[in-house]
Amino acid sequence: MKLNEMTITGLRNLLDKKEIRPSEILDDVYARIEEVEDKIHAYLITTKEQAYKTAAEAEKTIIENKTALLTGIPIAVKDNMCTEGILTTCGSKILYNFIPPYESTVTARMKAQHYLLTGKTNMDEFAMGSSTENSAYYPSKNPWDTGCVPGGSSGGSAAAVAADECIAAIGSDTGGSIRQPASLCGVVGLKPTYGAVSRYGLVAFASSLDQIGPLTKTVADSALLLNVIGGHDPKDSTSAPGEIKDFTKVIGQDIKGMRIGIPEEYFIKGLDSDVEASVKDALKKLEALGAVPVEISLPHTEYAVATYYVIATSEASSNLARYDGVKYGFRRDGKDLLDMYMKTRAEGFGPEVKRRIMLGTFALSSGYYDAYYRKAQQVRTLLKTDFEKAFEKVDIIATPTAPTTAFRFGEKTTDPLQMYLSDIFTISVNLAGVPAISVPCGFSAKRMPIGLQLIGKHFDEASILKAAYAFEQSTEWHLRKPTL
Ligand code: GLN
Repeated sequence: MKLNEMTITGLRNLLDKKEIRPSEILDDVYARIEEVEDKIHAYLITTKEQAYKTAAEAEKTIIENKTALLTGIPIAVKDNMCTEGILTTCGSKILYNFIPPYESTVTARMKAQHYLLTGKTNMDEFAMGSSTENSAYYPSKNPWDTGCVPGGSSGGSAAAVAADECIAAIGSDTGGSIRQPASLCGVVGLKPTYGAVSRYGLVAFASSLDQIGPLTKTVADSALLLNVIGGHDPKDSTSAPGEIKDFTKVIGQDIKGMRIGIPEEYFIKGLDSDVEASVKDALKKLEALGAVPVEISLPHTEYAVATYYVIATSEASSNLARYDGVKYGFRRDGKDLLDMYMKTRAEGFGPEVKRRIMLGTFALSSGYYDAYYRKAQQVRTLLKTDFEKAFEKVDIIATPTAPTTAFRFGEKTTDPLQMYLSDIFTISVNLAGVPAISVPCGFSAKRMPIGLQLIGKHFDEASILKAAYAFEQSTEWHLRKPTL
């Protein structure tokens, strides 16, 4: 097996025993990038030179026996996280030349351990989308079938992990953007509880929903990465106080007696039959492992997509007001200040971002605020209450991650509503603020990956990681690799 095909856990072991050097992992990673990146387009930029420099420092640390979890591990980062001195475009033309003067907390924590940044991954512009087709640069391809989307908005991160162009990746999830691409690319994706991971240095899309999380080849790696990136950060006022737990502790614990809620609202018309069959098999497997299935209801699920697209666009319209051409990024001069603003924003933003700014501005405007924004906030409370009631009876909830496997390029671009509906199973989780993981659970007849979503209580990532690991180890789905 080549080193780029391995997991963080596997490489950690070899590095600590000094059987391999960090630069050797990089050799394999960049050879792979060289080999397949033309077909996948997972990255917006690669940072090879810098990575080798850091590898030398990592090696020193290892020789001095001062290693941490990520020392010498090549990891890709979604291009909406600020990396000091390294281009951060957020998939947008408006930030085409933005070099952040500071580091996001998540990458700073990884950097403190001498992780090796492989590059910045492609994404839908400002994380708005489910396919990477909204990237201002180019779409990324699904390694399992390059005629299909990798999902989005963290599609580049998911594709890079699936194609072994990195060992793991970091993504962000506002309405499913880690879990849905993980599902479509056959990798593991975790959205932590809102407040569990600092958002400092993450380019804001919808601040009450955004969370950063890991995309990995295995559940054990997901727990390990969460240990590094999670925990309180005084630089983010919404970051939860308190010590972070060691999530790797639950890896390997059994799930006997764990009550798993199965919401009737998630097994509906429009759910692809291959997805339904795989998820139902997965539920049987969990039962065989000792879990107890419990039928539950999340009655307000049908309002989740509408609620999300009012709240997320409202917050986006406010967050994106800062891109005006004055201080940084793209600028088109005009005859006066207003003309400059208008030209800059008209040319700098793509059509989906403009659509969302207009929708959000409308929902917040006087006369419509009560009918849309306030109403959406009320429904959000109902959705949250649905989960609270369900969690009185169960420990975790299991659902499909996405209603279909990866779709073809162009299939949903003409009808934004169709694209929005692909988020139907992931969005409620963000609105409620609870954690959820997507883990590979099968393949369709066309050999495309399918994901199982496990949802937990607030700050109970431990239970979903425990169940996901038990499930993963009893199957072989995570061991399959795409042929490229
Ligand atoms: N697909 C959803 C959207 O377009 C979710 C995006 C995300 O989670 N960043 O808003």
